[in-house]
Amino acid sequence: MIRVTFLGTAASRPTVGRNVSSLLIQRGGEPLLFDCGEGTQRQMMRYGTGFTVSDVFFTHLHADHFLGITGLLRTMGLQERSEVMRLWVPTGGTPIMEQAVHLGVERVPFPVEVKELEAGQRVARAGYDVIAFATQHGTRALGYALVEHERLGRFDVARARAMGVPEGPLYGQLHRGLPVQVGGRTINPTDVVGPPRPGRRVVYSGDTRPCRATADMSRAADLLVHDATFGAEEADRARATGHATAREAAELALRAGALRLVLTHISARYAEDHRPLEREAREVFPATRVAYDGLVIEVPYADADADE
Ligand SMILES: [Zn+2]
Ligand SMILES: [Zn+2]
Repeated sequence: MIRVTFLGTAASRPTVGRNVSSLLIQRGGEPLLFDCGEGTQRQMMRYGTGFTVSDVFFTHLHADHFLGITGLLRTMGLQERSEVMRLWVPTGGTPIMEQAVHLGVERVPFPVEVKELEAGQRVARAGYDVIAFATQHGTRALGYALVEHERLGRFDVARARAMGVPEGPLYGQLHRGLPVQVGGRTINPTDVVGPPRPGRRVVYSGDTRPCRATADMSRAADLLVHDATFGAEEADRARATGHATAREAAELALRAGALRLVLTHISARYAEDHRPLEREAREVFPATRVAYDGLVIEVPYADADADE
């Protein structure tokens, strides 16, 4: 299971309906937080994500993306947390993040590690990696891709039966790539197991112009979450401020062959009605929606296998 919860979807400042940036991705029960704008902890309560997060990945250190970490850490301290918290920031971001960690308290009662990431670096986890890539936002900024490892090939039960393999441990051996003996014959894995299948890929652009690195990372992505601060009528402003328009995000998703696009970091000028952004993007890339606070997206395997 991969579940993406949009905790904050506003650009630059909160509105009545939207909080500033934060995104929570849960994979197999393990939650990862991406950006932590002011008030994120309250959004986590509101949308029931729990506070078991141990890694926060910051796209960049503009205030609307990190001010919430101070309050979140204070609350975790009050809850007598003892587990380490890792805060991942773009290169050079340590001094600002250290200030945010220590602001307004004598001592943080649990270990907090601030770690810098450069484009191309990956954080290895069980079954997947989080890969940082360089984006274009007029400051040091990263996007992040959660990329699952390849899965085993599809196991053809009918064919295994037809070849006389008894149900049980031999199935597992074949699936893991080991030949087995049945009635004096050797059955090879390739007889009953298909080629390895790609895992899922979820990409979060953070604040950025549409750029090559995001497109490269989003090849066949199951889900792309992209900056769409403005509509096409504000294209100049998007360029000047290092953001994307809804149409530009859609064009990038189309070029990359992504399966689904969710637009976020929505300017306050669309607070009343975000549908123009959605319409604009869907003309280019129909599988688009505009995020709202509390939106939850489940990301299934593209080949929707029942055997996993
Ligand atoms: Zn921002
Ligand atoms: Zn920014």
